[in-house]
Amino acid sequence: MIKFNVPPYAEKAYDYIRECVENQKICGDGAYTRKCNEWIEKKTGTAKCLLTTSCTHATELAALLLPEIGPGDEVIMPSFTFVSTADAFVLRGAVPVFVDIRPDTMNIDEKLIEAAVTERTKAIVPVHYAGVSCEMDKIMEIADKYHLAVIEDAAQGIMSSYKGRALGTIGNFGCFSFHETKNYSMGEGGALLIRDEKDVEEAEIIREKGTNRSKYYRGQIDKYTWINYGSSYLPSDMNAAYLYAQLEMAEEINDARLRCWNRYYENLKPLAEAGKIDLPTVPEGCVHNAHMFYIKAADLKERTELIAYLKDKDVMSVFHYIPLHTAPAGLKFGRFHGEDRYTTRESERLARLPMYFGLTEEQVDYICDVLKRFYE
Ligand SMILES: *Cc1c(COP(=O)(O)O)cnc(C)c1O
Repeated sequence: MIKFNVPPYAEKAYDYIRECVENQKICGDGAYTRKCNEWIEKKTGTAKCLLTTSCTHATELAALLLPEIGPGDEVIMPSFTFVSTADAFVLRGAVPVFVDIRPDTMNIDEKLIEAAVTERTKAIVPVHYAGVSCEMDKIMEIADKYHLAVIEDAAQGIMSSYKGRALGTIGNFGCFSFHETKNYSMGEGGALLIRDEKDVEEAEIIREKGTNRSKYYRGQIDKYTWINYGSSYLPSDMNAAYLYAQLEMAEEINDARLRCWNRYYENLKPLAEAGKIDLPTVPEGCVHNAHMFYIKAADLKERTELIAYLKDKDVMSVFHYIPLHTAPAGLKFGRFHGEDRYTTRESERLARLPMYFGLTEEQVDYICDVLKRFYE
């Protein structure tokens, strides 16, 4: 059986975690958390990175950093995304306003955003699906024009870029995920990227239960106190140690994934050219991280048959998001702006193929052969 996902693992994790245990230093903001933060800052060029317990929590932290977002305010986002994108703002009492996606990248259609802006709009949350960037120039232009914050859901986007800039560093805040289904894993974990120096201190305070403990740890003050609302978003240093071992070999992991992605693409091109399936698009200026390889079948019925056929041939493939605006909580908390031309239709066509560090080119070839037989 070819699994759909195998969580990434680096041999060194064992040594690093043992070191944490032997030193009895496993709480938050230890040596490995610092190393991960610095690695991400250097790699992406962001002003500040703070490791968190998840991408969901990083997004919540970003929402808490925007005190102007409150009950009845609106936040523009795609409906084709994971629930966390919306949850962070629903918890603040805000209304997710869903905008249709582009069929080529499955990302929010930047041309439809401006029409969804109202007097209550406070932020835009672009989601970089499959690690392929949204059209950020246009999105930042709209944000500037209407004074909106931009929080990038870059859960899938570490190692990807848009016109030379790392995903997660373009908006005010960016959120990474290190869940075990992502390219780099700490089991459960994430990171908040902060673009502007001016937002760093407040972020540290909210992440530390509303206290200035981070400053205290750095020796900048001699006692710490409660100064704002906050929560606890620090992961254990053991999880950071597990992640750091993978970050050290990030290029190797990225290259291996890209090799599989490109092999899928080349192998399946004839099927796409024959009009049987659609393949993902990577627009010019976007460098992606091979987070995912998906194909699109004709419709829901064909996709269901395809996934069953693959399973019968020992290949695990899965579909993805049920659009949020059709889910019970989406109906309760959000609204769809404009027409749902592509969100539902394209989400019903999409099937994700196995993709993980360690997947072999022989396995990719086998999967592609199975797909070709299905379409014969
Ligand atoms: C995985 C994912 C999340 C959530 O990440 P966690 O680290 O599990 O909280 C949020 N948004 C998107 C687009 C994701 O793919």
